[in-house]
Amino acid sequence: MSLRDPCHHSHGFILTINGGSSSLKCSLFHVGPPLTRVVSCRVDRIGFPEGTLTLTDVAGGTSERRTIQAAHYKDCVDPLLTWLEQKITITDLVAIGHRVVHGGHLYSEPQVVTPEIMGELRRLSPYDPEHLPSEIELIETLGRRYPTLPQVACFDAAFHRDMPHVARLLPIPRRYVVAGVQRYGFHGLSYAYLMTELRRVAPHQANGRIILAHLGNGASMAAVLRGKSTDTSMGFTPTAGLPMSTRSGDLDPGLLSYLSRTEGMTVEQFHTMVNQQSGLLGVSETSSDLRDLLASESHDPRAAEAVALFCYQAKKWMGSFAAALGGLDMLVFSGGIGENSAVVRARICEGLEFLGVALDEARNRTGAAIISREGSGVTVRVIPTDEESEIARSVHQLLYQSRGNDG
Ligand code: ADP
Repeated sequence: MSLRDPCHHSHGFILTINGGSSSLKCSLFHVGPPLTRVVSCRVDRIGFPEGTLTLTDVAGGTSERRTIQAAHYKDCVDPLLTWLEQKITITDLVAIGHRVVHGGHLYSEPQVVTPEIMGELRRLSPYDPEHLPSEIELIETLGRRYPTLPQVACFDAAFHRDMPHVARLLPIPRRYVVAGVQRYGFHGLSYAYLMTELRRVAPHQANGRIILAHLGNGASMAAVLRGKSTDTSMGFTPTAGLPMSTRSGDLDPGLLSYLSRTEGMTVEQFHTMVNQQSGLLGVSETSSDLRDLLASESHDPRAAEAVALFCYQAKKWMGSFAAALGGLDMLVFSGGIGENSAVVRARICEGLEFLGVALDEARNRTGAAIISREGSGVTVRVIPTDEESEIARSVHQLLYQSRGNDG
């Protein structure tokens, strides 16, 4: 089916933008009903000498790959949109939805971007200098290209907005907490998508005690009770919690002053170290990519240690969240590692039998939807996440509701 088919023209398209740290994913959804993905694009290795742009025409079943030079996000936007404009009549776009890491304490629901919201995002930039400045830049670049098109910010911290106060509170002087320094948590679009999927496939269990494990380059977990986040491993920034591809996760807060005293390390250098040089990359000294480490762990003890550290910390977080939830009914693996690596799933779950986690080896190996044994106290699932679908759904809901309110 061609995207220029008259049936596609009738309702228009929503474009979703999901910028990671070195990758950019975007998708085009036909508004429907139902809301259907028709194109997905991915730009990898932004900031490297040679990046790749992959465009998949989901409806047509074809894929194209090009190399591009993208020193920064805004460099990928033009080649991407030029290709899209060959596929659809751009006047058929009804809105653009963005994944935005933070809305601070003012914004959690998706918002149509206004100058006030842009001002607030700029003010919040120091909260997450790794993500917010490039997200702001993406919104501005698209705004210049399509000045009349509504852009919607969908906040990654929103899923955790109702966490109990005790889970949000950081044990530092109260004046910082009052000023907004607290646990926000992230990966919320992924968690919201996973909960929607759970409600569809296992409506009764979706109300139980659940741990969602989003294990990708960025990795976090959420403890979910009766459908709501009650705690999460990321904190004030996405650097907290589990060790990740290049982020350290939780560290002893005494480390900064130690390194500053002994090595003269500056705050900027510390920031770069814990965000870009730590985690799997820091421990292995070779790669931030789990696949590389699994391939080399048999002959490189540093790679083996990096994988072991990742699995051990994941297990510990699961134990602490099971305690916070007062027991566990379901465990969900997602993200590039959680969805694809049977070995890592098995190593994380090993030793959690006391909680009622019993994996079925064959189901785990084949990546079945349920990988726990029949009769396992905890149902263990693998659900491929889809943040872009969640963004499109939020944008659609917001536009539909506001039109309803207007009319
Ligand atoms: P991002 O957070 O950038 O979206 P992904 O969710 O795509 O990242 O996850 C990337 C991680 O998933 C990488 O560490 C990669 O090695 C890992 N991964 C992807 N496929 C596999 C696989 N088949 N086996 C093990 N790890 C995998």
